[in-house]
Formats: sequence, C-alpha cells, structure tokens
Amino acid sequence: MIRRLAILALFLTLAGAVTGGIWWRALTDALERLEERGRSDLALSGDRLLGQLQRYREMTVLMADHPEVLRLALDPAAPSAPVSALLQRSADMTSSDEIRLATASGRVIAASAGGEGLDLSSTPYFKRAMHGALGFHHEVDPIDGRRMFVYAAPVFSPSGPVAGVLVTRVETETVEVTWRGEPMIVFFTDKNGIVFVSNRDELILVRLDLIDGEGGDSSGRLIHRSQRRSAGHEIWDLDGGPYLPARALHITRPLQVIGMTGEALVDAAPAERQAALQAGIAAAVSLGVGALLFAIQVRRRALSAQLAAEAEANARLEGRVAERTRELSQTNDRLQRTQAELVQAGKLSALGQMSAGISHELNQPLMAIRSYAENAELFLTRDAPEKAAENLVRISDLSRRMGRIIKNLRAFARQEVEGIADVDLSAAVGAALELTETRLQSADIQVNWTPPGRPVMVRGGEVRLQQVLVNLLSNAADAMPAGGAVTIRIARADGRVRLTLSDTGPGIAEPDRIFDPFYSTKEVGASEGMGLGLSISYGIIQSFGGTITGRNRPAGGAEFVIELVPAKKGRAA
Ligand code: ADP
Repeated sequence: MIRRLAILALFLTLAGAVTGGIWWRALTDALERLEERGRSDLALSGDRLLGQLQRYREMTVLMADHPEVLRLALDPAAPSAPVSALLQRSADMTSSDEIRLATASGRVIAASAGGEGLDLSSTPYFKRAMHGALGFHHEVDPIDGRRMFVYAAPVFSPSGPVAGVLVTRVETETVEVTWRGEPMIVFFTDKNGIVFVSNRDELILVRLDLIDGEGGDSSGRLIHRSQRRSAGHEIWDLDGGPYLPARALHITRPLQVIGMTGEALVDAAPAERQAALQAGIAAAVSLGVGALLFAIQVRRRALSAQLAAEAEANARLEGRVAERTRELSQTNDRLQRTQAELVQAGKLSALGQMSAGISHELNQPLMAIRSYAENAELFLTRDAPEKAAENLVRISDLSRRMGRIIKNLRAFARQEVEGIADVDLSAAVGAALELTETRLQSADIQVNWTPPGRPVMVRGGEVRLQQVLVNLLSNAADAMPAGGAVTIRIARADGRVRLTLSDTGPGIAEPDRIFDPFYSTKEVGASEGMGLGLSISYGIIQSFGGTITGRNRPAGGAEFVIELVPAKKGRAA
C-alpha cells in the first residue's frame, strides 16, 4: 500500500514536472515569437513616425531659405501679407498646423493662420534656432490642449547672422491618423514618461506609472501598472480599462532623433492561453498514459495471480493423481498377490476334494499289481511262463498308469510362475479329465469328449488352465451326485478358441452370481465349496485375455463357455 502511494506520488511529481516543463517551454517560445514580431513592428512604427516628421523638417528648412521669407526677415517693417499667403499655401500643401516667421527678437511677423504678434523669444526651439541650429520640440498647446511637434529653422541673412526663425507646427494627430487601429499598441513617451504619440486614444498624455512609484506629478492622467519578468521578458500588468490588455509584453526602442522612447505593448494572453493549452494537453496525456499503465499493471497482477492459483491447483491435482495412482498400484499388487494365493488355495482345496478319489485311483492298480504278481509267481511254479509273462506286462501297464497320475498331481500342485505361453488346450482337457476321472466314475458320470487329432494351441498357463477345467468338472460332479453326463467340445469362433462344457444336472440357481467370490450353494465345511472356485477361474481366464461365462441350457443343465486367444502359430495354421 505504501509502495503504491509512493509510486503514485512519484508519478504525479513526474507528470507535474513534465507539464510544468512543457508549459514553461511553450510560454517562452510564444513570448519569444511575440517579442520578435513586436520588435519589428515597433521599429516600423518608429521609422514611419520619423519619416513623416522628416517631411516637415525638410519643408521647414526649405522655407527658411525662401527669398521672400528672407526679405521680410531682413525688413520686418515691409508688408507681411504676401509672405503670410506663401506660408498659408505651404501649410495647406503639407497639412501643417501653422507656419510662422519670427524676427530675431522673437516676434511673429508673418503666419499662415494669424499668429502675428506672438512672442516666441522664450521658447526653447526659438532659442536653439537663433543659435543657428534646427530646433525641435513637442508641446501641448496651452490654449486648446492640442499636441504639437514644432520645427524651428534659422533664416540666415546673407552676411551671416540669423535674421529670423521659421517655425512649423504639426499637430500630432496628423501623423497618428495613418496608423490608428493596428493590433499592437504603440506609443512614444517623452523624457518625463508621458505618452505623446500613440495609436490608442486611451494612452495619450497618460503616464504609465509603477504602482509603488506613485510620483507627485498630478498634471497628467495616470494608468497604474505593475511590472515583472517572465521567461526573460518584461510583462506589464495594466489597470487601463477594457481597451488595454490586462497583461502585456512590454518592448522599448529609443528614438534619439526626436528625444523619445518608442514603446509597444503586445497582449500576452494568447501566448499564455497557448502555453496553458499545451500544458493541459501534456497533463492529460501523462495522466492518460499513467492510468493506462496502472490498468495494465493491475490486469497483469490479476492475471499472474490467476495463473499462480491455477498452477497451484494443477500441482495439487497432479499430487492427488500421483498419490491415487500409487495407492491403486499398491492395491493392484496386493490384489495380484492375494489372487495368486487364492489360486494356490483353490488348487489345494481341489486336491483335498480329490484326495479320496486319488488314493482310490492309486490303490486300485496297486491291489491289481499285487494280485498279478502273486499269480505270476504261481504260474512260474506251475511252469507256465507265458501266463506269468502276460501278468508282468499287465503289471508294467498298471505301474505306468500310476506314474502318469502322480505326474499329473505333481504338476497340478506346482505353483506356476506367472506368465503366459502357448499351451495345448486339448492336452489340458485330457490332464483335467485324468485328475478327476475317479471322481466322475464314482459319481457315475459319463464324459463325452473326443480329442481333436492335433494340438489346439492357445495363449495361457498350463497349470492354471487345468485348474479351471478341474474346477468346472468338479462343479459338474457336485451338481450331479446321482449321475449324468458331461460334454466337452472345442471349436473356433470369431478368431477365438471356444471350449464348451455342459452337464445334465439341475442347472445353475443364480447364473448372475456364480462368479462372485464366496457365492456358494453348497454346504460349507469339509471338502465342500468355499464359493471361490468360479471367481478364481474367472480371474485366471481374464488374465489370459479370454472370457468365461456360465448359463443354463434351454434343454436343461448348466453350460460353461471359455473363450481363449489362439496362439500365433495356431492362428496362422
Ligand atoms: P463352490 O463350488 O465352492 O460352491 P464355485 O464358485 O465353484 O464355488 O461355484 C459357485 C456356485 O455356482 C456353486 O455353489 C453352484 O451353486 C453354482 N454352480 C457351479 N457350477 C454349477 C453347475 N455345473 N451346475 C449347477 N450349479 C453350478
């Protein structure tokens, strides 16, 4: 939070600095341009004023040289009317206010507008002309208040000394009239700081005074101003009514020739407005960019938080999956171990069930062998060796048969190492029948089985396959205590090898449940069922990639179908 505030403060400071910088730069540029233009305009105005005055100056000097003017100056008692008329014509032609001729004593003797008799001896321009120089002066007419420029030229007598003075008075308005209404305020002030010429009426004969420098001169009108420097320029704050700008750029240019200072006031408001506008735009842009950056930052933060949350959820999920997988594989391992144990248990239980039959099976040939051997002994003592030999052949047959039974039992009891190979299904059926032969015979069950002429190779485990078949045969024997028939067929169907084992018993009570572990309809205990035989068989066949199903035949009795994957060689054949 504090970091964010700090960043915000930093950003605002930066934005402020940028805005301020742009404002300063824009203001400086604009004032610079204003000043440049003002300077050239002011120079132009000064030149124009001087140019106009120059005409009167030349006219005055020329008229002072006029022969008639000289004659009258030398002889002031002569009639003055012709000279007055001459002066009048000149004044009309040049729009001078008045042209006068004064004697060396200062008395006016001829004039264009009836100024005869006036005494000019005390005026500075007269004194200056009497010294042989050109007098120049500006004044406010004490009678009618009009502003006048006055030129005074000496009239030299042929012998040298000044005989009189020719004076030309020009009303200031005559020169002003031509540049009224120009946008820039221009004025010319005299040594006393009073505006004598201007293109604005408001300023004429006004003193523009600094507020703190209030002088005692109460003669002229006063406009107060304050003055400051901004961006290297002099700015005036004026209090001069609606026609003068409130704030203006002040420019000066000395005009030594007429003893005045040219000044100009250029309204600074447009420059300030422009600077403010540019600064405003800069501020808006920086704030906009800031807001955009902020929004992007917020969005990025939200996105990364979301991504982090998703990654964490994923990691959790993966962890759970891994754990579950581990548990499952452990369970699977346990299940496989349990199944292997069950398979072995199932075999031992089958062996137990078969033990009575097996001992009978082994006992019977043993008894027969014993009696054949005793008989053979008898035949030998009676000297009938052919008969004895016959008995010996029988004994040999019987012992071979016993050997086969024992071999089968040993193989059955062996715990088969897991694995799948190519095995002969028909041989497995033969072995299973041999193992259960006694049992089936004692129950008076007839077996219908015609072994195919050649091996039927399937994928599986030899011992486990036998175990399944022994189990099916034992169940059939259990189902038919009073005798019946079992039929075994092997066929190929749909790329599989199908073994069908059917009996003529009462059929299955609940076909849906027979493969459930511990489902049994038999009495528990002794050698009777645990309800595991079929469920173990189911697992075994499934592990071979095959299927086992059980159902009741429409004609009566149960039927079990085992489908197995044929061996590759078998399939090719
Ligand atoms: P057990 O033989 O120990 O009872 P099994 O899993 O081998 O266990 O058999 C389950 C049940 O299926 C038997 O209890 C019996 O009800 C039924 N069953 C199996 N084979 C047959 C059959 N050939 N005829 C009738 N019922 C059968």
